[in-house]
Amino acid sequence: AKESGRNGCQFYTADMNEQAQQRLELENDLRRAIERNELEMYYQPKVLLADGRIVGAEALIRWKHPSGKFVPPSDFIPMAEENGLIIPIGEWLIQDVCAQIRRWCDEGLAVPCVAINLSARQFQSQNLPDMLALAISEAGIEAQAVELELTESFLMNDMEANIEMMVLLKRMGFALAIDDFGTGYSSLSYLKRFPVDILKIDNNFVRDVAADHDSAELVRGVIGMAHGLKLEVVAEGVETPEQLAFLREYRCDMIQGYYFSRPLPAADFAALLREGKRL
Ligand code: C2E
Ligand code: CA
Ligand code: CA
Ligand code: CA
Repeated sequence: AKESGRNGCQFYTADMNEQAQQRLELENDLRRAIERNELEMYYQPKVLLADGRIVGAEALIRWKHPSGKFVPPSDFIPMAEENGLIIPIGEWLIQDVCAQIRRWCDEGLAVPCVAINLSARQFQSQNLPDMLALAISEAGIEAQAVELELTESFLMNDMEANIEMMVLLKRMGFALAIDDFGTGYSSLSYLKRFPVDILKIDNNFVRDVAADHDSAELVRGVIGMAHGLKLEVVAEGVETPEQLAFLREYRCDMIQGYYFSRPLPAADFAALLREGKRL
């Protein structure tokens, strides 16, 4: 029994080494991903329930690994946060999105506000405001064309500094949204202090609204509270007509999800705008 125990342990170690090795390889690949042009931004429409029109988009990063596979952001964004690569990647993607907005404007499209996800490390880097200012001025677009999504969980750490940064970004003209709402631990009194415009309810709660009483109550409560604070509410991850009906009934402002559209390559998103697709 001891023998096999030791073997088991050795297997375990070998396995761990292999995992660490794979991780290191992925990390090295990610380091080169920008130069190799393997990163691409996709755009998912946000729709206003009042008239069914596309009123926004969320930019979501995609990585086409040299092996040909798409690596989901959940497999490399947390890693990039840890090793600091999120800083150059974040800078690249902000420039890329701003340049894309410029091109769409030049093509004569009525471009809705595009939301960019900021990770904790980016948000806490001192040169974020300068970097954003440079990106919009180089692209020749207004700050109003860009919305910044900040997750509830990281805003709660070091609140005073975060509020200061939010105030500055708002003053520059960017719209601010709180992402993944419901997954963190914000209390209402804190939420009131954040100078944000939009609250995004996390997929996890939206998924169950039509089936589960507790999720339904939570979503209903969040919408009511957000409206009380004069915030607009976006429900993420809307996939079914039942979810849509629920969100309509409780006066959610906007929806985003596969029900209307998956995240799309820039050209496909532009095609939706051009054809004026509605919910
Ligand atoms: P998130 O910010 O909450 O983004 C929403 C996620 O939900 C996206 O996953 C989107 O593709 C997915 N989604 C949209 N509609 C539906 C739906 O109807 N059903 C389901 N099941 N999922 C839906 P994605 O693109 O895989 O991104 C995952 C997470 O990775 C994002 O969560 C965000 O936290 C992070 N991420 C993605 N792009 C970026 C980026 O450019 N920068 C940063 N810092 N993080 C990013
Ligand atoms: Ca987001
Ligand atoms: Ca989210
Ligand atoms: Ca989420």
